Amino acid sequence: MVRELSHYVDGQRIDGTSGRFSDVYDPCTGEVQARLPLASADEVRDAVANAEKGQLEWAAMNPQRRGRILLKFVDLVNQNMDELAKLLSSEHGKTFADAKGDIQRGIEVVEFSAGAPHLLKGEFSDNAGQGIDVHSLRQPLGVVAGITPFNFPAMIPLWKSGPALAAGNAFILKPSERDPSVPLRLAELYSEAGVPNGVFNVINGDKEAVDALLEDPRVKAIGFVGSTPIAQYIYATAAAHGKRAQCFGGAKNHMVIMPDADLDMAADALIGAGYGSAGERCMAISVAVPVGQETADALVDKLTERVKHLKVGHSLDKDSDFGPVVAASAKERIEGYIQSGVDEGATLVTDGRGLTVDGYDGGFWVGPTLFDNVTKDMKIYKEEIFGPVLSVLRAADYDEALRLCSEHEFGNGVAIFTRDGDSARDFASRVEVGMVGINVPIPVPIAYYTFGGWKASGFGDLNQHGADAFRFYTKTKTVTSRWPSGIRQGASFIMPAGS
Ligand code: NAD
Repeated sequence: MVRELSHYVDGQRIDGTSGRFSDVYDPCTGEVQARLPLASADEVRDAVANAEKGQLEWAAMNPQRRGRILLKFVDLVNQNMDELAKLLSSEHGKTFADAKGDIQRGIEVVEFSAGAPHLLKGEFSDNAGQGIDVHSLRQPLGVVAGITPFNFPAMIPLWKSGPALAAGNAFILKPSERDPSVPLRLAELYSEAGVPNGVFNVINGDKEAVDALLEDPRVKAIGFVGSTPIAQYIYATAAAHGKRAQCFGGAKNHMVIMPDADLDMAADALIGAGYGSAGERCMAISVAVPVGQETADALVDKLTERVKHLKVGHSLDKDSDFGPVVAASAKERIEGYIQSGVDEGATLVTDGRGLTVDGYDGGFWVGPTLFDNVTKDMKIYKEEIFGPVLSVLRAADYDEALRLCSEHEFGNGVAIFTRDGDSARDFASRVEVGMVGINVPIPVPIAYYTFGGWKASGFGDLNQHGADAFRFYTKTKTVTSRWPSGIRQGASFIMPAGS
């Protein structure tokens, strides 16, 4: 049976009225499992009007009470973890255990955000001038929106909504059309936890809905995560409409393996970080850079042996290392990249094309693919593939490896595997990438640090979660005050200065 999905506005699920729909698939079977309404610009505007009303009540509540409601929400998500993870797997295709990780990393940011009373504290300067005090306030922006990608349908909506709500804003989420059911369930749980109606809303849709959010003057900030061309478009359009924007884009994450590294540890890390979630992670490692021929030969042997034993299967099968990719178009795109690697002369060590899984003929399967002898000029090196494809690019020495990571167009995450503290420290300090792992393959920072890539992986000047999120979702007001009992100077015609 095909489920009918909806939007979530004013504390309830509402049907779409635009007459436009898109299909939501089960990537394990290739069958349509739900029909999603795509909002018109008018539907978006109605949701914004509703959010504006809800925001006033929410902002008036003291931040500690808002924080308590968020902690209740975290409890509810935990109570419903299995149901949410199963739903997430069924639309995304990642394994059940990985889906739980997606939700868990999201609620960690909501937990952090419940500390809003501390995070929203302003500053105070006593006697900044004669009888004059100065203090600053952090106030909510009003209605803000998040536009999120398919690959983390729980984590990224929670990274955005947790801090935004804690700071007293109303939030409109425009999730990916591919896996919108978990965001809709999260909306219900926010309401159940006590978030007032209109404060957290889900508008499903495509470019029409996104453009309506970008153009609406009542929407004060846009948080985007997705591919780089769309991130650039959203950043430029939001700025042209006078909005704050933070837009995170695609990635091509390298892992440098030094000759002194523990090669088994490095190979295991590469297998997990390269193929986990079918490579559909913005922090996946897609390029291994072994330093020196000896390291490269040994590493490729170890990878080849491990790849042979990987199991691709149904996302609810406990033995599956990873599941299908999200869509038929994604499978086609990834297979096209594999062919281009072959055409451009890379060595195809294992070929993931043509994989079948018993009982699931229609699934969007791509097996683990390993390329050796990849070079800088190849398309499979330059572009983001976003699939289970790992490329080995051999570097002659450390300097070449460092240059490769720094000169790549993308700068999301990077890792170095070594036993040498000096190399690790030098690498972390000099590499032109936003998030660095030392013997850690997917260095996604914990909730109380910030997450953000450099170069074509991020547009805007503040990162996600951590203290930056509270800066992004608030505006600063600075109050300079003097009281009548203070010193009187009569009318003054010169610019007040600190001296
Ligand atoms: P996508 O860019 O196709 O879609 C992201 C969002 O933008 C979706 O909500 C989608 O509906 C909307 N969108 C798509 N086309 C649009 C258009 N023309 N105009 C307006 N809105 C549009 O990305 P995706 O395929 O859902 O996600 C995968 C991408 O996200 C990868 O590139 C991945 O690296 C990136 N990603 C980045 C991070 C990060 O933090 N840097 C995290 C996760 C994913």
